[in-house]
Amino acid sequence: MSAVAVKTLLEKSRPGASGALVTDNDFGEPGVDHYFEPSQLRTTPVGLPELTESEIVRHFTALSKQSHGVDNGAYPLGSCTMKYNPKRNDVLAGMSGFRDAHPHQPPETLTGLWELYFHLQQHLCEITGMSSASLVPAAGAHGELAGLLMIRAYFEHINQHRPTLLITDSAHGTNASSAAMAGFQCWLVPTDPNGLLDIQMLDTMLDESVAGLMMTNPSTLGLFEENIQEIASKVHACGGLLYYDGANMNALMGIARPGDMGFDVIHVNTHKTFSTPHGGGGPGAGPVAANHLLEPFLPGPVVVRSGNTFMPDPDRSLSIGRIKSHHGHVAVLVRAYAYILTLGARGLRQVSENAVLNANYVQARLADLFPPVFNRLCMHETLLSGSRLETETAYFAKKLIDHILHPPTMLGAGCVYFPGNLKAAMLIEPTETESLDSLDEMIEVFRQVFSESSGSAEP
Ligand SMILES: *Cc1c(COP(=O)(O)O)cnc(C)c1O
Repeated sequence: MSAVAVKTLLEKSRPGASGALVTDNDFGEPGVDHYFEPSQLRTTPVGLPELTESEIVRHFTALSKQSHGVDNGAYPLGSCTMKYNPKRNDVLAGMSGFRDAHPHQPPETLTGLWELYFHLQQHLCEITGMSSASLVPAAGAHGELAGLLMIRAYFEHINQHRPTLLITDSAHGTNASSAAMAGFQCWLVPTDPNGLLDIQMLDTMLDESVAGLMMTNPSTLGLFEENIQEIASKVHACGGLLYYDGANMNALMGIARPGDMGFDVIHVNTHKTFSTPHGGGGPGAGPVAANHLLEPFLPGPVVVRSGNTFMPDPDRSLSIGRIKSHHGHVAVLVRAYAYILTLGARGLRQVSENAVLNANYVQARLADLFPPVFNRLCMHETLLSGSRLETETAYFAKKLIDHILHPPTMLGAGCVYFPGNLKAAMLIEPTETESLDSLDEMIEVFRQVFSESSGSAEP
């Protein structure tokens, strides 16, 4: 596929062309005008494009062939984990027992679903190092909101007034919005020149008004916080709690657990790490998991086991309540369960090892043209500078589309805020599902487009 310019519907419009096959009838019925007051009728044309039905169908079919997805090319969009998701899990999610369950079915008739929920809760707790989980939040940001409402409910419960929440400035953009929605005042903790949280600044910001610190780790710069335990103990020492944005679990599974680092609550993105395709507005799920302290505040349903029976826990007086109708996004959760069982503990660890290896491979092989903004090993994604380009980085990135490669995420200058100087940088997340051959192809395209964009022969 190469980019073919498709005219817009307005450009294709021809006066008089119509999609309706029947324009008039001769049954003597009054026209539509009959039913309205004259003052309700337009006197000027609407200005809509005029085309036949087949022209419209062909227009949208042509557009659909121009769209890019992981099924027709690599999609190294940093922070988004656009990896390949096994089709088999779609088939499992479509099994009639899951697909045809009615949202209003009495809970006691859904025992199979509760059993799956229970085991998925357990697996996510094992992966994150937490003690209990609720699967219902509908997306990552929704999981953040749930977790922050839990922190708020906890301090209300123990009668402490803590209105402030600290957020790292390398966090995902949703963090600050979720905190504001949960009623907190947010302060940004700056990043130091190495891309890590500035601990001295943190020291000056911690006091008794602080409910907690919300961190994305690995951060949106692709870096793991080296001082994570020190940071955690400082926040706890002043009575605050720690929220872990776990949307980037792709880098950590089987290697490190937020619970062990001292975090109190976390969400994960099933539609990044656990095999639901994402993008295009499809449903996701952002399960939220907590340690013993915050567990009572989890939103319902939390499924518990009694003998061989699995049912939503009826006894949750401290819960923040329901934050999603019915049972959450069932099909997404079935896919996550199937993914975890298919890979097992060793397989999940390998996913993360390969995700990190692939990102570092790309970083190393492109370093001469696109120097890493932080010159150190990265996690599952790498931030590469466009400073050696003669064109705008955005222009370079868009040009990749001609080679069936999705542009990376742009950070910096006029795009997303990021601490620093230079031209925009690119956040590249190749993901573990790209083979060595496909990584080499991707790198080749970057090098070729670099030399085209720079006007010189071979860089
Ligand atoms: C994607 C992402 C989110 C938001 O997840 P949504 O499902 O899009 O709401 C939050 N934090 C991080 C670090 C992310 O990468």
